[in-house]
Order: sequence, then structure tokens, then C-alpha cells
Amino acid sequence: MIIKGFCHPARSTDKFAASVMLLSEGRLQLSTAQGHQVMPLEVVSISEPLGRLPLRLAFPDGSQFIPDDSLLLECVLKARKRTWLHWVERYLPILASSLVLMGLLFALFFTHGIPWLASGIVKALPQSVPMQVGQHVMQTLDGKVLAPTELNIAQQALINQRFQTMVAQLPPMPVKPKLRFRQWHARPNALALSDGSIVVFDALVALAQTPEQLDSILLHELGHIQHQHVMKSIVRSALFTSLVAVLTGESAGLAESFNRAGVFYVMQGYSRKAELEADEFAVTSMLDLYGTTQPMQQMLQLFITPNGIDNELPEWINTHPALGTRVERLGE
Ligand SMILES: [Zn+2]
Repeated sequence: MIIKGFCHPARSTDKFAASVMLLSEGRLQLSTAQGHQVMPLEVVSISEPLGRLPLRLAFPDGSQFIPDDSLLLECVLKARKRTWLHWVERYLPILASSLVLMGLLFALFFTHGIPWLASGIVKALPQSVPMQVGQHVMQTLDGKVLAPTELNIAQQALINQRFQTMVAQLPPMPVKPKLRFRQWHARPNALALSDGSIVVFDALVALAQTPEQLDSILLHELGHIQHQHVMKSIVRSALFTSLVAVLTGESAGLAESFNRAGVFYVMQGYSRKAELEADEFAVTSMLDLYGTTQPMQQMLQLFITPNGIDNELPEWINTHPALGTRVERLGE
């Protein structure tokens, strides 16, 4: 609707014919003999009609518009306000549910998107990456926590030979598995690194009563290698750290945190899901190789009732699927 009236230029008592019109998207058009001017309604100040004074529109350049019919302009402006309120009322549920949906998508991205992305990235990485990460982690562990093995060469050779024969009968691994013998506070444990290294601690060799029992633990570690759990954990943590850095604008120490992640996952164990995957691999392989999971059950029992040795349980046995549940599950 066109509302006719007149216009006073800034700081002038001159007066000439003008009209205003409300356009879509909250814009207002002022038309004078000089031409049209379009501006958002927010920059126009609207004076309330006072007594006999008419309603006025004041523009940013100082000029003013006075309508012939104050009431008409008032009605048009109010109608607009109502339309806006009506729009909010109508779309508020949609707006609110969109926000909830966005939140959910965001959460899903963290719980499913990042692991999926990490898996894809790990598959696409050249082999030199897990090799270098594995070597770096091994160097760090050797420098900080591990001590040289006290097993003699003959014992090492015997375990190695058995291990290589076992690996040859398994499906191909993403990296070539190899054993490394070390000691760590007399703890019976083994760790899998991203380059295929399985670090076997002397106390684990001592704890196993049969070669098959030791094999069952090595098979669990081979499960971690088969599923590339170290690289997946590192990439997932890198993606997460980068995302947080992007969201918060805090990127200092990003590279340092990637390095720490490599050591962290090897030492602190993986997610429950990763442990179950490694167990599943061990169980399937035990059945293929020996036709039974009994040595694995016996080995897990040895962790519970050590023969007079004060065994500290390895992290993955201790914190992940409760040991009792795992022994039961194996029995099924
Ligand atoms: Zn494990």
C-alpha cells in the first residue's frame, strides 16, 4: 500500500510531496520527485503521534516523512508487527525442533561420524605412517618405562618361531607382526603397537603354563593389530582435537597432543569395543588353530589366581569387559 504525505529534507522547512511503501523483508521505500530510496525499517525511527502532532518517520539522513493520514500509516506498521509475531508463533516449533535436531546430529557426529571417518583415514594412510608411529612409541616406551628382557636368546627364539608359525596360519595382517621382549615392573602384560610390534613382558612368559596359553594373549594382541586399533585411536583423537581447536580457535599444542595420543592409547588400553573386537579375533583364531578356547580361559584364570606372584593385572584385563564376564563368555 502506498501512503502519501510530504517530506522535509534535513535541517530545512522545505516541504515536498512524497510517499512511502512497505516492501517485503522489512524494507521501506521512500519515493519523492528525486527518485526512490529503499532502506530497512530498523533504521527508520517512528515517532508516536502526540496530541495533534501527526506520526512522523525520521530517516538516517535527517529528513522526515509526515503522512497525510497518520492513522493509516500506524495501521500498516502495526499490521506488519503482527505478521512478524505470527510468523514466529507459527515457525517456533519448527525452529526449536531444528535446533534439537542440529544438537543430535552434532552428538552423532562425535559418537559415530568421527570413528567412521577415522576408519576411512586409517585405511587410506600409507604404511609408512603406522610404521613411524610404532617406532616412535617404542622409542618413547624404551626411554621412559620399559627395561630390557631377561629371557635368554634360546627362549626368545622358541617363542618367536612358534609365533611366526601361528601368524602364517592367520588371515593377512595390515602390517607384519613381530615380537619384542621387554620388562615392565614385573607385570604380566603385552602391548600391540601400530607397526605390528607386540611387546611381550617377561612376567607374562613366566605366568603362562603352556605355550598355548601364551598364544591366546598374543592372539588378543594380534586382534588389535588386525583391527589397527592404535592408528584408529590416534586418528580419532586427532580429529577430535582438531575439531575442538576449530570450534574454540585454540590450536596451540595440536601437534604435541597427537604425539602424546600414540603413547597414551598403547599404555592405557583401548575402548571396550576395541577390546571385544580383539577378544573376538583371539577366540575365532583359537578355535581355528586349536579347536578350543580352553587355553585362553586358563590364562585369564591365571591372572585372577596367580601362583604366589603378586600380579598386577594388565590394564586391558582389568578395566575393560569384566574378567569374570570374559571367562564366562569364552566358556559358551
Ligand atoms: Zn587389548
